[in-house]
Amino acid sequence: MLRSEGNRSHYFQSRYNPPVDNAAMGAILGPYLAKLKVRDLEGKPFFAGLDEHLNDDDGSGGGGFIGTNQLQLNSPARSSPHSNGSETTERFSRKVFVGGLPPDIDEEEITTSFNQYGDLIVDWPHKAESKSYFPPKGYAFLLFQEERGVQKLIETCVPDDDKLYITVSSPTIKNKAVQIRPWRLADADFVLDASMPLDPRKTVFVGGVPRPLKAYELAMIMDRLYGGVCYAGIDTDPELKYPKGAGRVAFSNQQSYIAAISARFVQLQHGDIDKRVEVKPYVLDDQMCDECHGQRCGGKFAPFFCANVTCLQYYCEQCWGLIHSREGREYHKPLVKEGADRPRAVPFRWC
Ligand SMILES: [Zn+2]
Ligand SMILES: [Zn+2]
Repeated sequence: MLRSEGNRSHYFQSRYNPPVDNAAMGAILGPYLAKLKVRDLEGKPFFAGLDEHLNDDDGSGGGGFIGTNQLQLNSPARSSPHSNGSETTERFSRKVFVGGLPPDIDEEEITTSFNQYGDLIVDWPHKAESKSYFPPKGYAFLLFQEERGVQKLIETCVPDDDKLYITVSSPTIKNKAVQIRPWRLADADFVLDASMPLDPRKTVFVGGVPRPLKAYELAMIMDRLYGGVCYAGIDTDPELKYPKGAGRVAFSNQQSYIAAISARFVQLQHGDIDKRVEVKPYVLDDQMCDECHGQRCGGKFAPFFCANVTCLQYYCEQCWGLIHSREGREYHKPLVKEGADRPRAVPFRWC
């Protein structure tokens, strides 16, 4: 089943060459992401906050609301605090999926199988709580201390179609082929139409995105369904830059945007992937009320967004009540940004 190493150079050329050069990507995305307030991701200690990133690999994590400032540029151009001057060559997340493990392989044996490539720790979803010695679903994540370890591992793998394999041994199973799935940093952003400005108000949040899905693939799927896609991004965690299971898509026109949010759910189909995911408007946390422009609310940012296509606006508390007391609008539900400044009480019907 595994092919010879002769395919490897082809594999890396076709799979691991960045589709867009980083400088060009940065120029396109810079203003857009600045508007979405890219948060400062630097300076965190190694493996800080790890647990929150280790959701199931089925893509269920990371869904729901995007609240404050979660848009981020995942480009390889962004330096890592651990890369020690090798930023320009950093191409992969330090977190790598390994699947199809022998059922009786334990954490220590997994570590031993892979630490020839670099220092690493082994993790899997809910590992800390379950206190299990074995990854219960036959997959685990390898968290390398240096990205170089990931590159070394990949170089040793044998490609088969789109996938990478390597063999590991457990006490009872020798040389079992397991799948290695690295995450290429460049796959977190894809600009489909650079001629259009990226408008945060024509951007949707996609929750429950399967982890292997690349920004390019998300862009193509959404463009096929709704048209007018200019950009797609996969949300990654700031520490390991690994997909969190959510993404965002910016459209060039209002019709495509409205078609996408009206659908609410979309079937993502690509290769092995076939999953129903949720689509919501991307709610920004620094928008003025579109009705009163801050006059009725003392210039504060609007806490509510109405995703009903007859509204599609940000509202302060007063204007929400005013507009939604009108006939036919009383059942609109506000999308509320998450975070500390969530309003305590609302003087109108929530439904
Ligand atoms: Zn207002
Ligand atoms: Zn409304």
